[in-house]
Amino acid sequence: MDKTSATVDSTLKSNDVEVKTRTQNSEKLQDNVSNSNQSIQVLSIDVGCIATGYSHLDRAPCSVAIVNDRCEILFDSLIKPDKPVVSDLFPFSGVHKVDLQHAPSFDEVIQKVNSFFTPTTLIVGQSIMSDINWMKLEEGAHYNALIDLGDEFTTFDPKYSNNKYFSLAHEAYVLLKIDLSAMGGHVARNDAKASIKLYNEYIKDNDQSKLEQARQARLRAPTKIPPFRRFNGVYEKVSLSAFNRGYCRCGQSLVNELHKRPNQKRRQNSNDQKEELSPSMNKKMKVINEKNES
Ligand SMILES: [Zn+2]
Repeated sequence: MDKTSATVDSTLKSNDVEVKTRTQNSEKLQDNVSNSNQSIQVLSIDVGCIATGYSHLDRAPCSVAIVNDRCEILFDSLIKPDKPVVSDLFPFSGVHKVDLQHAPSFDEVIQKVNSFFTPTTLIVGQSIMSDINWMKLEEGAHYNALIDLGDEFTTFDPKYSNNKYFSLAHEAYVLLKIDLSAMGGHVARNDAKASIKLYNEYIKDNDQSKLEQARQARLRAPTKIPPFRRFNGVYEKVSLSAFNRGYCRCGQSLVNELHKRPNQKRRQNSNDQKEELSPSMNKKMKVINEKNES
């Protein structure tokens, strides 16, 4: 494993304001689960993105899927981007540009998406804040608590003395024997289903020893070469790496650099679109960055 990438992951985590929110919500959830299990609706949501420019920050949602806790797909739609598509990033989005031409607009999709969520919904996902931000889901209106699988499965790696954060693909491969990357890129519905399965299998019952075994298995398992490394940081001229300067081909700020800037904790107040884009990068790039190890 590559020590640099491990450090990058760790830095991102500790600097990410949203991570703290997730942890707090996770704690809140534990109370809620024990108090009123039946009132909680558990949903997983996943959003895929295409490139609207050549920087690693130029992204727009192109697909979204919502899955319930019985692993049933409640909603699955493509999204027609409101900007020209530079690349569909197929190896990462699982979506072909041509299929977006007649897809519903972002506004249409987001209304439908929001209708599935209630103030008592528990949302499960990997780097879930990016999906929540893209779909404009708000705490109190659309959800009560969040479970971020990336946080739940984070493992201390004694080899490098830091926390290791892995992708959904790695978790699914090691813990569920599901190869998400073999299913045509990161298809939203497959990712959402895998998230629910991981939640049902390892998180729901709050069995700490089982969860710890899962973490250790995940840590020990060999990781695949990440797609962004396979493409040497660029796909159809689009810079892929938002986390690794060595693989960024556009020179824009890395996501962790953006997060480090002062006055940036609230994306709603931020004047730059990057803030809004970066969380999604956060996720997609984690997916391709996390296996920045050989
Ligand atoms: Zn770049």
